[in-house]
Amino acid sequence: MKKHNIMIPKPRSNFVKVECDSCKNIKVLYTYSTKPVLCPSCNAELLVNTGGQAKILGNILETLD
Ligand SMILES: [Zn+2]
Repeated sequence: MKKHNIMIPKPRSNFVKVECDSCKNIKVLYTYSTKPVLCPSCNAELLVNTGGQAKILGNILETLD
């Protein structure tokens, strides 16, 4: 098992509240998105999909059920 810097929420939590590193805008993301999610404010990438697994690039504030 590789260690990851960013915890991917458990499958039960499909949504996370993420703060953009660049502009501190807060957005709720669907963690199983197959498309990249951009910050609506500054267009920084908040989530990218790396071969089936979403990677969250922002600062995870909380997970939502
Ligand atoms: Zn931003």
